Amino acid sequence: MSDRASGRHALAPRVAVVGSGFGGLAAAIRLQAAGVQTVLFEARDKPGGRAYVYEQDGFTFDAGPTVITAPHCIEELYQAAGHDMNRYVELLPVHPFYRLVWDDGDAFNYTGDGDDMLSQIRSRSASDADGYQRFVAYTKDVFAKGYEDLAATPFLRFTDMVRVAPQLARLRADRSVYSTVARFVKDEHLRQALSFHSLLVGGNPFETSAIYTLIHYLERKWGVFFPRGGTGALVRGLVKLYEELGGELRLNAPVRSIRVQTESAGTRHLLTTDAQADEPFSAVVSNADLHHTYSKLYAHNRAAEQTTRKLERADWSMSLFVLYFGARQNYDLAHHTVVFGPRYKELLAEIFHGSTLPEDFSLYLHAPTVTDPSLAPPGCGAYYVLSPVPHLGNAPIDWDKVAPEYANRILGALERLMPNLRENVVTQRWFTPQDFVSQLSAYNGSAFSVAPKLTQSAWFRPHNRDPKIPGLYIVGAGTHPGAGMPGVINSAKATTKLLLEDLGLTSAAAA
Ligand SMILES: Cc1cc2nc3c(=O)[nH]c(=O)nc-3n(C[C@H](O)[C@H](O)[C@H](O)COP(=O)(O)OP(=O)(O)OC[C@H]3O[C@@H](n4cnc5c(N)ncnc54)[C@H](O)[C@@H]3O)c2cc1C
Repeated sequence: MSDRASGRHALAPRVAVVGSGFGGLAAAIRLQAAGVQTVLFEARDKPGGRAYVYEQDGFTFDAGPTVITAPHCIEELYQAAGHDMNRYVELLPVHPFYRLVWDDGDAFNYTGDGDDMLSQIRSRSASDADGYQRFVAYTKDVFAKGYEDLAATPFLRFTDMVRVAPQLARLRADRSVYSTVARFVKDEHLRQALSFHSLLVGGNPFETSAIYTLIHYLERKWGVFFPRGGTGALVRGLVKLYEELGGELRLNAPVRSIRVQTESAGTRHLLTTDAQADEPFSAVVSNADLHHTYSKLYAHNRAAEQTTRKLERADWSMSLFVLYFGARQNYDLAHHTVVFGPRYKELLAEIFHGSTLPEDFSLYLHAPTVTDPSLAPPGCGAYYVLSPVPHLGNAPIDWDKVAPEYANRILGALERLMPNLRENVVTQRWFTPQDFVSQLSAYNGSAFSVAPKLTQSAWFRPHNRDPKIPGLYIVGAGTHPGAGMPGVINSAKATTKLLLEDLGLTSAAAA
């Protein structure tokens, strides 16, 4: 057994997982399935983290993730615990994957059907149709390297990075998503259609490594899904699995501080919550925001202070303004619609680097009742619309003041797709960058943690195992491979593999 995480203080190792986002849940399941007694601490009253659920006036609103990709990650998690995912949750396929609309009336149905994509593109430009085919071949290559080989492989040593550098160079990972797409197709709307995906993991397509074009191939290969009952049903299914495995979930249990105690017998992490001081654990897996982990939970730890300073110099992803609303009408929409504004590159520059709230916006509209009408009262529709906005570190906007008018402007903009919307809204609520701070302890209100730039990816990203604090492991959006559900579920695989090795346990749960 390694000294990094030793169970020598207790008869059996006992691990604390701080935060029940998808990363925390997945890590807790893998550990519990491997026979490690786990306690999952969640600050809020419900599990799921960014996948929280609001129930209001008969409507069910999934707070965060709605585009469910790479379902095999979830299947694999159940399999690692010896269970069948289909007994816990039903994943419904979504068609088209996205409907993309522009303000000049142009529209594109983004699907997983190669022929359908090709014929839509060909009707715009024959040369772009050829370019698209070459783009797909390129993304297949990137997917094989960037996802299949590396997504669940921890990068702990610089040599791990050196090992993959030749492949990354061959795939021109130094180029941005947008500049890569632009080499294959000329139509500006098509360039936007093939590059916006990095926004789903918090990256500006003009700054995020071309490696993220793999999302195109990943969606095409496995599809886009939505759980019956909403993303909340997926969270409930995972919690059920975790508890069946004997795991303990403590809700309304914010961890206030963690002290590291190193003695000859090994290292212990002493967790303090409102209910109990200094509860001992062999190791901690933090799913909480990185900055919160190092600056608050491990405050007064010298190594953590250094990491905090480093994190404060990092580039953080943008924030979001999310407006949840119920309408007395179930509008005829696609499940996922992206509403591009008149500006793309300039707007993104303002969202990622500007110090004020841009006047215009590009929106993502979620219409889950298209797929599952049970999420709203009969005949009604449940929706959310999100607008990427600058994080508070760049733009310290007083969202309490701005939100009502901003929400009204967004609803007005949607009336093109949803006639008389403002008259039909019967209930609404919003989540602002300030809520990301107060509800999720997110640094600067960032929605996706450290931005997924090449210089902040793989070995350059905060590691799955802290290099300086023995027994501290990280899981979730802030560590490798990064944000998004497949990212954080894969991070749990990478992190628990290390922890189980350090505990002297290796098992199918980490394989
Ligand atoms: C609006 C929105 C839409 C999104 N849409 C998609 C999508 O369609 N598809 C997709 O794949 N991804 C999407 N994402 C990204 C995805 O949701 C996230 O990357 C992912 O869910 C983050 O998971 P995580 O494991 O990092 O934990 P988080 O979800 O960040 O959860 C962390 C948890 O830790 C808890 N916590 C924090 N501090 C403490 C403490 N001190 N003690 C105890 N608990 C603590 C928090 O309360 C929280 O529950 C979206 C994100 C947002 C915000």
